[in-house]
Amino acid sequence: MSSSRSADVHRSEPALSPAATRVLRQLVLHGDATRTGLAHDTGLTAGAITRAVRPLLEAGLLDETGERVPAEGALGRPATTVTLRALAHQVVGVKLTADRLFGVVADLRCGVLDESSVPVDDPRPEAVVERVAELVAGLRAGRPEVGGVGLATAGDVDAGHVAYSPFLGWRDVPLRDQVAARTGLPTTVENDVRALLTGERWYGVGRGLSSLALVTVGAGVGSALLVEGHVVRGHSGVAGEVGHVLVDPDGPPCHCGNRGCVEAIAGSRAILDRAAAAGLPATTLDEVARLARAGQPEAERVLAEAGRAVGTGIATVANLLGPEHVLITGEAVGTDYDVMEPHVREAFERHAFGSAARTALELRPLRFVDWARGAAACAVEDFVTRYGRS
Ligand SMILES: [Zn+2]
Repeated sequence: MSSSRSADVHRSEPALSPAATRVLRQLVLHGDATRTGLAHDTGLTAGAITRAVRPLLEAGLLDETGERVPAEGALGRPATTVTLRALAHQVVGVKLTADRLFGVVADLRCGVLDESSVPVDDPRPEAVVERVAELVAGLRAGRPEVGGVGLATAGDVDAGHVAYSPFLGWRDVPLRDQVAARTGLPTTVENDVRALLTGERWYGVGRGLSSLALVTVGAGVGSALLVEGHVVRGHSGVAGEVGHVLVDPDGPPCHCGNRGCVEAIAGSRAILDRAAAAGLPATTLDEVARLARAGQPEAERVLAEAGRAVGTGIATVANLLGPEHVLITGEAVGTDYDVMEPHVREAFERHAFGSAARTALELRPLRFVDWARGAAACAVEDFVTRYGRS
């Protein structure tokens, strides 16, 4: 879809009142609604809803649909449904990894319209920015509705700066400004786990929850936390380092310089190192899991210890913050987690205090496109916020 009307949306981006921003946010997050429903959900008066909806209709972001029929019990007052034109504003979300960039185009409901990836052969920031620009250009070709970019990368990210990203070897890279300058599009940059949390909060399991912990297990173990409706960033953007929670003072050394961190036992590299030290003929997590399923006791032990480390680390998070729901995900979940899951749950239940033990634990595999979709969710959030400020 590429009507000139929707193409105008991001060209004009008129200033919106706080009420209109609230209505837009409500529709993006919760879907279509009647004007009466919008008034109820936003706490605005009927008159304020009328004033808020008008500029959004004019900007092509909303439609009104349905018969103007009396709402039930409303004594003849008309009730039209206000519909978000989700395709009217689209964004590109990109996940950066050390060897590849994964990108998606998504609409305002974070529905994925297209996806693509390009290799990274040179990790220097200027080379990666060029690759991002190339990926964005490919994904936005023929899509004039694309009006923003979201980037997600591992490491310390704060206010558009990548303060430190160990896997790319970056320090203090003003990535947001560089990509915005190169693409000409408003750009936002977020830590990748917090980007995933943003996607889950807006469009996934986090909808309607005020507190949620998301834990990713892969080469590293990370987490992002929603507490009482706020994404916890910590000082300088450093928060949620569940990978370096101590679970065994006598445990193996961790790359952070300490011993017995969750990541030193349950990171995928750690699992493979521990499998090799036990003399197992396995070079992938899949192979370790296969040996464990076949009853090989050392493979079972390595994965049980990894599962217990994850469960104990998450119990520490739950005891401190009391989330309603914990989502454990990552590339490793799904290959070896049928073996690890009982140990994760058992350790969590043993170490979680009081009612924290009743926190819902969900384990779900993660594809690379999900990371890029999280980056797109950040770009949608940025659009809704920016639109209200402009
Ligand atoms: Zn550590």
